[in-house]
Amino acid sequence: MNNVTSLLNSIPTDPLTGAISVPIYQTSTFIQEAPNVNKGYDYSRTGNPTRDVLERVVAKLEHGTTGAAFGSGLAAIDAVVKLLKSGDEILAVDDIYGGAFRMFNDIYQKFGIKVNYVDTTKVENVVDAFTPDTKLVWIESPTNPTLKISDIAAIASVAHANDALLCVDNTFASPVLQNPLELGADIVVHSATKYLGGHCDLIAGIVVTKNEELGEKIKYIQNASGAILGPFDSWLIIRGLETLYVRVQRHCESALKVAQYLEKHPAIEKVFYPGLPSHVNHDVAAKQSKAFGGMISFVLKNDTIEIADELVTSTKCFKLAESLGGTKSLICHPAQMTHASMPAEIRKSHGVSDGLVRLSIGLEDPEDLIADLEQALNKILKSKKEKAALTA
Ligand SMILES: *Cc1c(COP(=O)(O)O)cnc(C)c1O
Repeated sequence: MNNVTSLLNSIPTDPLTGAISVPIYQTSTFIQEAPNVNKGYDYSRTGNPTRDVLERVVAKLEHGTTGAAFGSGLAAIDAVVKLLKSGDEILAVDDIYGGAFRMFNDIYQKFGIKVNYVDTTKVENVVDAFTPDTKLVWIESPTNPTLKISDIAAIASVAHANDALLCVDNTFASPVLQNPLELGADIVVHSATKYLGGHCDLIAGIVVTKNEELGEKIKYIQNASGAILGPFDSWLIIRGLETLYVRVQRHCESALKVAQYLEKHPAIEKVFYPGLPSHVNHDVAAKQSKAFGGMISFVLKNDTIEIADELVTSTKCFKLAESLGGTKSLICHPAQMTHASMPAEIRKSHGVSDGLVRLSIGLEDPEDLIADLEQALNKILKSKKEKAALTA
């Protein structure tokens, strides 16, 4: 069956009334006929019918057994780390999402969980960084914001040979493009705030596990620690999922066009997009994902904060904002926005230079997006010429 048909068929209709939209069960508790005799639900932290639908549909999309929805992507990541105990170590991609970096270092280090950061784009680095205490390998592919690609299947083999779990933050790819559990990963997490929700109107996270045993542990943590997603936000994501395939296909087609345009522009030094043959791990990306996503970043020539500022405030279709994966195109300057909390040295060593600009390609006509970038890039070229003339 076609993927879209199968996704739409997996979202249930309401047997009670025939409502085609999943009902929002906005309730904390459920009446019991006698103590512990109920209709499958007793308290909404433990289980809620609307959240259940979301968890089942995303588990299916990721080819996993169990889904668990949380109040944010970071709460989902937090639940996975809670599988570990004091003395265990995490081996993580160095170009990790800033919020995960902050959680690992500022929250979990003091509970005795150590983290080794390595460049996972080379599998040898992962092999070398293992210690007897490494229990969890954590990667993102593509990474944020420089869109580095790591070989998920190869890293899964290394992790399993060392009795560790592999968790992949699949936020940037979405389940439409890449299914890490099929490639050997044990756990997938999503910031559902991004492509799954898809409309920049909520904050949410999801964990999906490959096997039921691990799924039960995550479900236990979800109930015991309590960072669940509410019924209304669960419903908003279910609604977003109905258009996920159509949206992601459009994001990918437009992003490739924009990336090809940017690569030829004289104001630009380098474009990072896994779909371009110039991307260092283009072959790995092509092997493990169906297409290359809606995120692009690029470095301006003579990268200074002033020039980047002028560019990101000159676009009209692209709105200046953090986040990604929504219907509207966004532009962001990581050095001053998403990655501002990282010390400058570390930031630069991760490729987040002052002239790096990140785009989230929305659903607008790609020709309009290119025209918008064209006028903004020409504006900075013109003001650079004017400055050069003044100092000459
Ligand atoms: C946004 C994001 C997160 C965090 O998700 P929140 O929903 O903001 O808590 C984690 N990982 C990646 C790759 C992200 O882009």
